[in-house]
Amino acid sequence: MNLNMNFAEVRQVTERKAGQRSTREWQALDAAHHFHPFSDAAALNAQGSRVITHADGVYLWDSDGNKIFDAMSGLWCVNIGYGREELAEAAYRQMRELPFYNTFFKTTHPPVVELSALLAEIAPDGFNHVFYTNSGSEGNDTVIRMVRHYWASLGQPQKKTIISRVNGYHGSTIGGASLGGMTYMHEQGDLPIPGIAHIEQPYWYANGGDLTPEEYGLKAARELEKKILELGVENVAAFIGEPVQGAGGIIIPPTTYWPEIQRICDQYGILLIADEVICGFGRTGHWFGSQYYGIRPHLMTIAKGLSSGYQPIGGVLVHDTVAKVIAESGDFNHGFTYSGHPVACAVAAENLRILKNERIIDKMREDVMPYAHQLWHNAFDDHPLVDDVRTLGFFFAVTLVEDKARRQRFANGGELALRCRDICFQNNLVMRATGDSMISAPPLTMSRAEAREFVGLAKKCLDQLARELGRL
Ligand SMILES: *Cc1c(COP(=O)(O)O)cnc(C)c1O
Repeated sequence: MNLNMNFAEVRQVTERKAGQRSTREWQALDAAHHFHPFSDAAALNAQGSRVITHADGVYLWDSDGNKIFDAMSGLWCVNIGYGREELAEAAYRQMRELPFYNTFFKTTHPPVVELSALLAEIAPDGFNHVFYTNSGSEGNDTVIRMVRHYWASLGQPQKKTIISRVNGYHGSTIGGASLGGMTYMHEQGDLPIPGIAHIEQPYWYANGGDLTPEEYGLKAARELEKKILELGVENVAAFIGEPVQGAGGIIIPPTTYWPEIQRICDQYGILLIADEVICGFGRTGHWFGSQYYGIRPHLMTIAKGLSSGYQPIGGVLVHDTVAKVIAESGDFNHGFTYSGHPVACAVAAENLRILKNERIIDKMREDVMPYAHQLWHNAFDDHPLVDDVRTLGFFFAVTLVEDKARRQRFANGGELALRCRDICFQNNLVMRATGDSMISAPPLTMSRAEAREFVGLAKKCLDQLARELGRL
């Protein structure tokens, strides 16, 4: 590929390549040889996968030439949008210069140094160190080993239980899935591993009963205190949570929740871990979700938006208080061949420079974000089929409900949401169905016109489902 080509030219090449096989052929080969993550292989193969061939801005194109609005930013990751040539060039340059070298044995390289310094500059005060992984799951596995090593180094090896939440998502490795609170994942592979305990998620709409959201937020946070006392504080290493739960269905905690969690972590002296894999790098309208909520974690897991998904890279940002102990405790026997991979680091650094220099997060927060929130509420606040209409940063969600007045949900809400996702697919909109919620997280670079298109499409699809159910 010629480096001087622009993205339109690159696309023509892709299209020419795409012409080499028909959609049918790709689907047949895919069905024959490719196992998809989180999928029912038999059902998927009977239907055939949609083949995505290229992308630009907020749009994807499939092999049949359909233009699709990607209101999920890939998988919560393409924060700066598709088609940024600078990132492709950063990868190409780095591959020619130094495609790989490890950082295990007394060596380093410029891209990992530059990215680390940039992260220290962007991250909240006191976060001056980063440990690299290839993914968010590996980041959370690293967190488990690091917090246990931290307490062992301080002479408290029994202090190793990590408390997390029901329906939280922390990845799909054995450690990540154990921290996560997805029962359908725990059912496969004998999870969770020992030393992990789960408490209720702060989901007022589902669990709040007659309490106000504020009262319920305190109650949900105090589940942490109860669990610490039940396990014995001498056995508890840390609490981990996503500032806003993403894969669990965009669960936005009541405003009282995080301050109370912070109080409890401080009072009992346990570590606070923010899983920033989705919230980090602008999703909440701030660099980190922790900043949105004003909390002070000791560790932050990062991935996804770190490279805007252009390269697989993740890691753990480590606060000085923890970094000091780890640094003074001899070898930390942990790492991945590709920890701090030069190409991934070069691309992530370019992504962060673009986010920073173009003020993408500030611009979004000041302009398109409030505008899109308004559009979302106008479209859905009075919609007959949905309730718990929620927006925060570039998170958008609604829950399908049978009876709004009584907060009563459908017995088959999950099926209806999947039906809605299919309708979205047919209308060239990518939204996700989680339980009985329809959720969305578009690229941070979405324009006002694109926001109108996105919300218009979402409303069209929910209207169609409402008509099918005789509710409109
Ligand atoms: C996606 C995600 C992970 C896992 O990241 P992978 O890169 O898929 O391993 C962990 N935590 C959160 C909050 C996530 O959304």
